[in-house]
Amino acid sequence: MQEFIYYNPNSLEFPLNEEVLISSTLKELKEINCIVSNSDQVNAQVVAKEIDFYIQNSQDNLSNKMKNVGKLYKINALRFDLSLDMEQELQVDNRVLLIGTQEQKDDFLGSKLALEFEFYHIDASILKMIDGHMGSFEVIVDNDGKETVLKVSQIVWFDATETFDRAGIYDPISSSHDDVFEQLLQNTKGHIYKKFITYDSSICQYHDRRDEVCAQCVNVCPTVAITKDDENKHLIFSDIDCLGCGGCISVCPSGALDYAPMNTESFFQISRMYEGHTPLIIPAKMNIHEINIELKEHVLPLSIEGEKFLDESKLLTLLQESGSQIVFYTDFLSKGTTDAIDILNQIYKKKYNCKAILVAQNEQELQAALQEVQFVENSRYSINQTTEKKRENFAIRLEKIVDGQDLGRVITGPSVHYAKVNVNEANCTLCLSCVGACNVDALIADATDNTLQLNSSLCTACGYCELSCPEKDCLSIEQDMIELQPSWFTYNVLAQDELFACVECGKEFATKKAVEKIAHMMSPIFSKMSKTKERTLYCCEDCKAKLMIQEGLLHA
Ligand code: SF4
Ligand code: SF4
Repeated sequence: MQEFIYYNPNSLEFPLNEEVLISSTLKELKEINCIVSNSDQVNAQVVAKEIDFYIQNSQDNLSNKMKNVGKLYKINALRFDLSLDMEQELQVDNRVLLIGTQEQKDDFLGSKLALEFEFYHIDASILKMIDGHMGSFEVIVDNDGKETVLKVSQIVWFDATETFDRAGIYDPISSSHDDVFEQLLQNTKGHIYKKFITYDSSICQYHDRRDEVCAQCVNVCPTVAITKDDENKHLIFSDIDCLGCGGCISVCPSGALDYAPMNTESFFQISRMYEGHTPLIIPAKMNIHEINIELKEHVLPLSIEGEKFLDESKLLTLLQESGSQIVFYTDFLSKGTTDAIDILNQIYKKKYNCKAILVAQNEQELQAALQEVQFVENSRYSINQTTEKKRENFAIRLEKIVDGQDLGRVITGPSVHYAKVNVNEANCTLCLSCVGACNVDALIADATDNTLQLNSSLCTACGYCELSCPEKDCLSIEQDMIELQPSWFTYNVLAQDELFACVECGKEFATKKAVEKIAHMMSPIFSKMSKTKERTLYCCEDCKAKLMIQEGLLHA
């Protein structure tokens, strides 16, 4: 297969690497499939609009332009190779429910295409609930006081009252009758959709928890692509309803979610190709065709699919691998990305006295940001391979910036949380409930010296350890901050104790504080029963049983 095609009816003024087939006639390319092309008129897996944008606007000299166009092809091929956004197809039959007035129905069905479908109609006043997804909706209606379930594949809903953007439900008022018909028809030919996110339940802060300490992804999802099963504390994913915006990825604290079209590994590999370049991030939905702007030397665009998935770990990867500030041209910033940029800007300000990321939301701002952007001295840092966990990646890179210094604190939140766990050692009995609660290994127990330890850089600030701690005034969480100092990145002792030896056999069986605490509570009661009973408070399980049996025998 031809890997790369450059098509332009006006041809190209300079040669390209021989891997790229250049053509000015579409006819010549008609039968050829390829991986990457600059043009959507070519049969390509990836259309890289940024190639023409770069060629048209870059101030790089000719030799660098040739190299960089080749690089843009390679970046897109790499992204294609490493992406996990598999396409799926859904068969959708022709049952359509129309929700609206009789007049709206008649108006809508006036079209000739109405014959293609089996239409059902209800008035919005009897609608109770819509469950399921495109292809298998279950619509519950109030049928004269009784609930009736209608099973349909698609829904036309005039003036939809629920504010959601859900596959298979269309509002002709917010678009047009023709557009809705076209969409309905298109879906019956087979609805193609992608799996945009990957999920690791083992580090999810919602999964299998007793209490709800996280559901950030559910809260930011603009559709119903991620929902909660509160009874079992499991997340439910609907790939059909997912728009692929990536908003959930940027707020997921642990990295349990990753963006399939450009996952952590892919983003890392691509970032490495920006060494010596200033990255200009542009979501694919931005219209860059029309923009005439000066891209100063070494500025290289990076096109991304969704506009909301960038988190602090991915952005810091690109910053350090390139050694430059970043320009992000977007008309929308997700909550997570906004926080991530804010955190990184604070960090860069403290360390390098400049912003890390310059955001431009329109052409004027883009022009200004492109004038301002520059390489950041001593900021480049490359690592050989990335770990898959977001917090760990971020910690490795941030530690490099801190570089043994004390740079003070940065404030985080409200959508991207970092925190510090504090333990009041006097009240901690080292029961280790908090260690059991932490599924990202931020809290650990070290048996060699009987310590409870915390690595703040791994903590997701979920608060589950605080809820799990049985002791009063013991474990608390200082939310929304990162301490830019070496201790943030290592395990530090929060509490320590000695082991208590059984007064009968001498075996160490619990921490001294735990035994003393229980003894303090129970002694007044047990001492009234018998001296032996009181002594059991200081015994291991085996000796406790042995003494109790002896006590029983004595009384027999
Ligand atoms: S945001 Fe991440 S950690 Fe939180 S519930 Fe969603 S997947 Fe789990
Ligand atoms: S240390 Fe506590 S707050 Fe931090 S991730 Fe573990 S359980 Fe959550």
